[in-house]
Amino acid sequence: MKITFWGTRGSIASPGPETVEYGGNTTCLEVNLDCGRIIVIDAGTGIRRLGDHLLRRNQHLDIYLLLTHVHWDHILGFPFFAPIFHDSSHIMLDGCRQGIEGLKRVFSSNYIDGTWPIRFEDLKARIEPSQEMRKGSIHFDDAVVEPHPIQHPQGGMGFKFIEGKRAFVFLTDNELLDNGWAGTSFKDFVRFCMAADILVHDCQYTSEEIQARRGWGHSDVESVARLAVEAEVKKLVLFHHDPWRTDEEAAALVESCAAMVHEKNPAIIVEGAREGGTMDL
Ligand SMILES: [Zn+2]
Ligand SMILES: [Zn+2]
Repeated sequence: MKITFWGTRGSIASPGPETVEYGGNTTCLEVNLDCGRIIVIDAGTGIRRLGDHLLRRNQHLDIYLLLTHVHWDHILGFPFFAPIFHDSSHIMLDGCRQGIEGLKRVFSSNYIDGTWPIRFEDLKARIEPSQEMRKGSIHFDDAVVEPHPIQHPQGGMGFKFIEGKRAFVFLTDNELLDNGWAGTSFKDFVRFCMAADILVHDCQYTSEEIQARRGWGHSDVESVARLAVEAEVKKLVLFHHDPWRTDEEAAALVESCAAMVHEKNPAIIVEGAREGGTMDL
Protein backbone atom coordinates (compact mmCIF):
# COMPACT_ATOMS: atom_id res chain seq x y z
CA MET A 1 0.00 0.00 0.00
CA LYS A 2 1.26 3.45 -0.86
CA ILE A 3 -0.31 6.61 0.52
CA THR A 4 0.20 10.07 -1.02
CA PHE A 5 -0.93 13.37 0.49
CA TRP A 6 -2.33 15.75 -2.16
CA GLY A 7 -3.98 18.05 0.37
CA THR A 8 -3.34 18.32 4.12
CA ARG A 9 -4.88 21.65 5.13
CA GLY A 10 -8.12 22.04 7.09
CA SER A 11 -11.13 24.29 6.57
CA ILE A 12 -9.97 26.43 3.62
CA ALA A 13 -7.14 26.34 1.07
CA SER A 14 -4.28 28.40 2.46
CA PRO A 15 -1.55 28.94 -0.14
CA GLY A 16 1.28 31.36 0.54
CA PRO A 17 4.88 31.64 1.64
CA GLU A 18 4.03 30.53 5.18
CA THR A 19 2.46 27.18 4.18
CA VAL A 20 4.97 25.83 1.68
CA GLU A 21 6.31 23.01 3.85
CA TYR A 22 3.05 21.43 5.00
CA GLY A 23 0.98 22.58 2.05
CA GLY A 24 -2.02 24.82 1.44
CA ASN A 25 -4.46 22.50 -0.36
CA THR A 26 -7.37 20.93 1.47
CA THR A 27 -7.97 17.23 2.11
CA CYS A 28 -7.16 14.72 -0.61
CA LEU A 29 -5.23 11.45 -0.31
CA GLU A 30 -4.39 8.79 -2.86
CA VAL A 31 -4.15 5.23 -1.63
CA ASN A 32 -2.60 2.75 -4.04
CA LEU A 33 -3.35 -0.76 -2.85
CA ASP A 34 -0.95 -3.58 -3.72
CA CYS A 35 -3.79 -5.23 -5.67
CA GLY A 36 -3.66 -2.28 -8.08
CA ARG A 37 -6.83 -0.51 -6.95
CA ILE A 38 -6.63 3.29 -6.68
CA ILE A 39 -8.65 4.80 -3.86
CA VAL A 40 -8.99 8.55 -3.43
CA ILE A 41 -10.06 9.97 -0.08
CA ASP A 42 -11.94 13.28 -0.29
CA ALA A 43 -12.13 15.86 -3.02
CA GLY A 44 -10.61 18.93 -1.39
CA THR A 45 -8.56 21.32 -3.51
CA GLY A 46 -5.67 18.84 -3.53
CA ILE A 47 -7.61 16.63 -5.93
CA ARG A 48 -6.86 19.01 -8.84
CA ARG A 49 -3.20 18.02 -9.09
CA LEU A 50 -4.02 14.39 -8.37
CA GLY A 51 -6.36 14.38 -11.39
CA ASP A 52 -3.62 15.59 -13.73
CA HIS A 53 -1.20 13.06 -12.26
CA LEU A 54 -3.65 10.17 -12.73
CA LEU A 55 -4.42 11.12 -16.34
CA ARG A 56 -0.72 11.22 -17.19
CA ARG A 57 -0.42 7.64 -15.93
CA ASN A 58 -3.66 6.13 -17.31
CA GLN A 59 -6.08 7.06 -20.04
CA HIS A 60 -8.78 4.73 -18.69
CA LEU A 61 -9.26 5.53 -15.07
CA ASP A 62 -11.13 3.32 -12.68
CA ILE A 63 -11.03 4.78 -9.21
CA TYR A 64 -12.88 4.58 -5.93
CA LEU A 65 -13.64 7.92 -4.28
CA LEU A 66 -14.37 7.74 -0.56
CA LEU A 67 -15.79 10.87 1.02
CA THR A 68 -15.41 11.39 4.76
CA HIS A 69 -18.15 14.06 4.76
CA VAL A 70 -19.34 16.90 2.56
CA HIS A 71 -18.07 20.05 4.25
CA TRP A 72 -16.74 22.43 1.61
CA ASP A 73 -13.07 21.83 2.25
CA HIS A 74 -13.55 18.14 1.40
CA ILE A 75 -15.47 18.49 -1.89
CA LEU A 76 -14.60 21.85 -3.40
CA GLY A 77 -11.84 20.53 -5.65
CA PHE A 78 -14.12 18.10 -7.49
CA PRO A 79 -15.02 20.40 -10.45
CA PHE A 80 -11.26 20.68 -11.13
CA PHE A 81 -10.64 16.92 -11.06
CA ALA A 82 -9.83 16.52 -14.75
CA PRO A 83 -10.91 12.82 -15.05
CA ILE A 84 -14.56 13.88 -14.66
CA PHE A 85 -14.39 15.38 -18.19
CA HIS A 86 -13.33 12.08 -19.81
CA ASP A 87 -15.85 9.46 -20.85
CA SER A 88 -13.23 6.78 -20.22
CA SER A 89 -13.24 7.54 -16.48
CA HIS A 90 -15.19 5.45 -14.03
CA ILE A 91 -15.59 6.78 -10.50
CA MET A 92 -17.23 4.68 -7.83
CA LEU A 93 -18.36 6.94 -5.01
CA ASP A 94 -18.76 5.63 -1.49
CA GLY A 95 -18.22 6.73 2.09
CA CYS A 96 -20.47 9.18 3.89
CA ARG A 97 -24.16 8.98 3.22
CA GLN A 98 -24.59 12.45 1.65
CA GLY A 99 -21.71 12.00 -0.85
CA ILE A 100 -23.44 12.25 -4.22
CA GLU A 101 -25.73 15.12 -3.12
CA GLY A 102 -22.70 16.95 -1.75
CA LEU A 103 -20.78 16.67 -5.02
CA LYS A 104 -23.81 17.80 -7.04
CA ARG A 105 -24.21 20.85 -4.81
CA VAL A 106 -20.78 22.13 -5.81
CA PHE A 107 -22.08 22.45 -9.37
CA SER A 108 -25.58 23.73 -8.79
CA SER A 109 -27.90 24.75 -6.05
CA ASN A 110 -31.64 25.34 -5.87
CA TYR A 111 -30.93 28.26 -3.61
CA ILE A 112 -29.59 30.47 -6.40
CA ASP A 113 -29.35 30.10 -10.19
CA GLY A 114 -26.17 28.09 -9.99
CA THR A 115 -22.75 28.03 -8.42
CA TRP A 116 -20.80 26.69 -11.40
CA PRO A 117 -21.04 27.09 -15.20
CA ILE A 118 -21.10 23.32 -15.86
CA ARG A 119 -23.89 21.03 -14.78
CA PHE A 120 -23.12 17.82 -12.89
CA GLU A 121 -25.34 15.97 -15.39
CA ASP A 122 -23.06 17.06 -18.25
CA LEU A 123 -19.88 15.51 -16.81
CA LYS A 124 -18.54 12.83 -19.13
CA ALA A 125 -17.19 10.39 -16.54
CA ARG A 126 -19.37 7.56 -15.30
CA ILE A 127 -19.92 8.46 -11.65
CA GLU A 128 -21.58 5.66 -9.74
CA PRO A 129 -22.76 6.20 -6.17
CA SER A 130 -22.50 3.12 -3.98
CA GLN A 131 -24.06 2.45 -0.59
CA GLU A 132 -21.83 -0.49 0.29
CA MET A 133 -20.03 1.26 3.13
CA ARG A 134 -23.23 2.09 4.90
CA LYS A 135 -23.63 -1.66 5.31
CA GLY A 136 -20.06 -2.22 6.50
CA SER A 137 -16.59 -2.94 5.11
CA ILE A 138 -15.73 -3.10 1.42
CA HIS A 139 -13.26 -5.60 -0.03
CA PHE A 140 -10.73 -5.32 -2.87
CA ASP A 141 -9.01 -8.66 -3.43
CA ASP A 142 -7.06 -9.19 -0.18
CA ALA A 143 -7.61 -5.67 1.11
CA VAL A 144 -10.49 -4.43 3.21
CA VAL A 145 -11.62 -0.91 4.06
CA GLU A 146 -13.58 -0.52 7.29
CA PRO A 147 -15.65 2.60 7.99
CA HIS A 148 -16.03 4.24 11.39
CA PRO A 149 -18.28 7.18 12.35
CA ILE A 150 -16.49 10.44 13.20
CA GLN A 151 -17.41 12.94 15.90
CA HIS A 152 -18.14 15.96 13.73
CA PRO A 153 -21.06 18.34 13.07
CA GLN A 154 -23.37 16.59 10.54
CA GLY A 155 -21.38 13.37 11.01
CA GLY A 156 -19.20 11.54 8.55
CA MET A 157 -16.81 8.62 8.26
CA GLY A 158 -13.23 7.64 8.92
CA PHE A 159 -11.56 4.63 7.32
CA LYS A 160 -9.20 1.79 8.14
CA PHE A 161 -7.35 0.13 5.27
CA ILE A 162 -6.07 -3.35 5.96
CA GLU A 163 -3.97 -5.13 3.38
CA GLY A 164 -2.02 -8.23 4.38
CA LYS A 165 -0.82 -7.55 7.91
CA ARG A 166 -0.66 -3.78 7.46
CA ALA A 167 -3.21 -1.27 8.70
CA PHE A 168 -3.59 2.42 7.88
CA VAL A 169 -6.23 4.48 9.70
CA PHE A 170 -7.48 7.83 8.41
CA LEU A 171 -9.53 9.99 10.79
CA THR A 172 -9.97 13.64 9.98
CA ASP A 173 -12.53 16.16 11.16
CA ASN A 174 -12.87 14.14 14.32
CA GLU A 175 -13.18 15.52 17.83
CA LEU A 176 -11.85 13.09 20.40
CA LEU A 177 -14.16 13.13 23.41
CA ASP A 178 -14.45 10.74 26.34
CA ASN A 179 -18.21 10.75 25.90
CA GLY A 180 -18.99 10.96 22.20
CA TRP A 181 -22.24 9.81 20.63
CA ALA A 182 -22.74 6.12 19.76
CA GLY A 183 -19.48 4.61 18.57
CA THR A 184 -17.46 7.79 18.85
CA SER A 185 -16.19 7.87 22.41
CA PHE A 186 -12.45 7.96 22.98
CA LYS A 187 -12.48 4.24 23.82
CA ASP A 188 -14.15 3.42 20.49
CA PHE A 189 -11.37 5.19 18.60
CA VAL A 190 -8.71 3.40 20.64
CA ARG A 191 -10.30 0.12 19.61
CA PHE A 192 -10.54 1.17 15.93
CA CYS A 193 -6.91 2.36 15.78
CA MET A 194 -5.40 -0.43 17.89
CA ALA A 195 -1.89 -1.39 16.69
CA ALA A 196 -2.27 0.43 13.36
CA ASP A 197 0.97 0.89 11.43
CA ILE A 198 -0.04 4.42 10.49
CA LEU A 199 -2.67 6.66 12.07
CA VAL A 200 -3.40 9.93 10.26
CA HIS A 201 -5.53 12.07 12.57
CA ASP A 202 -7.01 15.56 12.65
CA CYS A 203 -4.89 17.77 14.91
CA GLN A 204 -6.13 21.23 14.03
CA TYR A 205 -5.63 22.84 17.43
CA THR A 206 -3.27 23.34 20.31
CA SER A 207 -4.65 22.45 23.74
CA GLU A 208 -5.21 26.19 24.41
CA GLU A 209 -6.93 26.91 21.10
CA ILE A 210 -9.47 24.11 21.42
CA GLN A 211 -10.94 25.56 24.63
CA ALA A 212 -12.94 28.12 22.61
CA ARG A 213 -13.62 25.64 19.79
CA ARG A 214 -15.27 22.71 21.53
CA GLY A 215 -18.00 21.14 19.41
CA TRP A 216 -16.38 22.20 16.12
CA GLY A 217 -15.42 18.59 15.42
CA HIS A 218 -11.63 18.85 15.50
CA SER A 219 -8.99 17.61 17.90
CA ASP A 220 -6.16 19.10 19.90
CA VAL A 221 -2.61 17.88 20.17
CA GLU A 222 -3.00 16.42 23.65
CA SER A 223 -5.94 14.14 22.87
CA VAL A 224 -4.36 12.98 19.60
CA ALA A 225 -1.12 12.12 21.43
CA ARG A 226 -3.15 10.19 24.00
CA LEU A 227 -4.95 8.23 21.27
CA ALA A 228 -1.67 7.23 19.59
CA VAL A 229 -0.26 6.01 22.91
CA GLU A 230 -3.35 4.13 24.08
CA ALA A 231 -3.91 2.54 20.66
CA GLU A 232 -0.20 1.65 20.46
CA VAL A 233 0.10 2.77 16.84
CA LYS A 234 3.50 2.65 15.16
CA LYS A 235 3.31 6.03 13.46
CA LEU A 236 1.13 9.08 14.12
CA VAL A 237 0.70 11.69 11.38
CA LEU A 238 -0.94 15.00 12.29
CA PHE A 239 -3.41 16.23 9.67
CA HIS A 240 -5.99 18.95 8.84
CA HIS A 241 -3.60 21.76 9.71
CA ASP A 242 -5.34 24.94 10.77
CA PRO A 243 -5.42 27.48 7.89
CA TRP A 244 -3.73 30.11 10.09
CA ARG A 245 -0.92 27.74 11.12
CA THR A 246 2.41 28.74 9.55
CA ASP A 247 5.03 26.12 8.70
CA GLU A 248 7.04 27.18 11.70
CA GLU A 249 4.05 26.85 14.02
CA ALA A 250 3.05 23.51 12.49
CA ALA A 251 6.55 22.15 13.08
CA ALA A 252 6.35 23.33 16.71
CA LEU A 253 2.97 21.61 17.12
CA VAL A 254 4.40 18.35 15.76
CA GLU A 255 7.34 18.68 18.11
CA SER A 256 5.11 19.25 21.13
CA CYS A 257 3.00 16.23 20.14
CA ALA A 258 6.12 14.08 19.77
CA ALA A 259 7.27 15.12 23.25
CA MET A 260 3.90 14.12 24.77
CA VAL A 261 3.90 10.77 22.94
CA HIS A 262 7.53 9.94 23.65
CA GLU A 263 7.11 10.55 27.35
CA LYS A 264 4.85 7.47 27.35
CA ASN A 265 6.19 5.52 24.37
CA PRO A 266 9.41 6.58 22.63
CA ALA A 267 8.94 3.99 19.85
CA ILE A 268 6.02 5.82 18.20
CA ILE A 269 7.04 7.97 15.23
CA VAL A 270 5.29 11.37 15.11
CA GLU A 271 5.12 13.50 11.95
CA GLY A 272 3.06 16.25 10.38
CA ALA A 273 1.36 15.47 7.06
CA ARG A 274 3.08 17.30 4.19
CA GLU A 275 1.50 17.93 0.81
CA GLY A 276 3.32 15.76 -1.73
CA GLY A 277 4.56 13.39 0.95
CA THR A 278 4.24 9.64 0.49
CA MET A 279 4.26 6.69 2.86
CA ASP A 280 4.84 3.05 1.96
CA LEU A 281 3.28 0.31 3.98
ZN1 LIG B 1 -12.33 19.64 7.14
ZN1 LIG C 1 -15.62 19.09 8.41
